[in-house]
Amino acid sequence: MAVFDDLIGQDQAVAVLSRAAAAAGEVVEGGRGAGMTHAWLFTGPPGSGREHAARAFAAALLCPDGGCGHCDQCHQVFIGSHPDLESVRPEGLSYSVKQTRELILRAAGAPTQGRWRVILFEDADRATESAANALLKAIEEPPPRTVWLLCAPAPDDLMITIRSRCRVVNLTTPAAEAVAHVLATRDSVPPEVARFAARAAQGHVSRARALALDEGVRRRREAVLSIPRSLTGVGECVSAAERLVKTAEEEAAAATAMLNESETAELRKLYGEGSTGKGLNRGLVRGGAGALKELEDRQKSRATRIKRDSLDSALLELVSFYRDVLAMQFGAGVELANDDLRFDLDQLAKASTPEETLRRIDAIMQCRERLAANVNPQMAVEAMMLALRS
Ligand SMILES: [Zn+2]
Repeated sequence: MAVFDDLIGQDQAVAVLSRAAAAAGEVVEGGRGAGMTHAWLFTGPPGSGREHAARAFAAALLCPDGGCGHCDQCHQVFIGSHPDLESVRPEGLSYSVKQTRELILRAAGAPTQGRWRVILFEDADRATESAANALLKAIEEPPPRTVWLLCAPAPDDLMITIRSRCRVVNLTTPAAEAVAHVLATRDSVPPEVARFAARAAQGHVSRARALALDEGVRRRREAVLSIPRSLTGVGECVSAAERLVKTAEEEAAAATAMLNESETAELRKLYGEGSTGKGLNRGLVRGGAGALKELEDRQKSRATRIKRDSLDSALLELVSFYRDVLAMQFGAGVELANDDLRFDLDQLAKASTPEETLRRIDAIMQCRERLAANVNPQMAVEAMMLALRS
């Protein structure tokens, strides 16, 4: 079906999902629909397109033609406005039990369009323990027309009790050639640029597309990958750390600004902001100020999460750089992720030993761990830069 066309290099998953969608169609027609399951778990490394695959499956379930890709139903699924698709992602660093309970209540309703009620739970591994327990109860006894689609990096990221009730769809990292081919044929990217973007993104389809089409994304990558050669002294290390953290902050601010504004406006409307109100809370009916404060807290923790994600992807880019250096030092004939920087890679490969390169990769991985453990970003990144230099 057309909705699965974008799942590059995922033939096995597509076969499973297509069969299940056909079975789901039978159920809607009053048949038995053998092979239809009420709880699914989409797993795969970052960039393998877990959420995208889950969304495509949702479209296949909700579209009267099994996922044609161009009808109203399909379109609504992809822009996120379908009344029978509830798409949730953690606004903060984790799902709270309160959020999960509200979701379960909504999930229990009958489908408005008579087909399915689909709950797409992104980053299900971020559910807190009590939230996961609430989720488990919902999955154990699903209403007849409710389908849960959970997404997580690996099956082990979920409690075994939840995992064992889900059918697992494992997605793999697509080959660079497959990604380049899609960029060239569907997004009309010149073949040369498509190959570069696919290689640099290491199988991450949406990242590859962003690199191919967005000049800003390419510039940020260049800035990150120019760091290794800039670390000539302690002062340079400190300023490189500052730059990296600041870039992540700016990215997070840009990604959240518009979202925050529309959420706040909506909430104000809900609580009946007075037409003369100019101050922050003036004119809101009782309870409005509290709700606004709650929204602001959620927005803050979302910004923190996006900032952390953006910093993490910059660190992974640095890892790919040093991996290329290591490959050159070992004379391994593998394709380099950062082939466009061959000159820099070659210089560093000659000026250092494989042991040093491994130690540098370790330093980056350690920095990632420290950031995940909430260490002050500037401090953690600074320590890493110093380790990369020496
Ligand atoms: Zn359709």
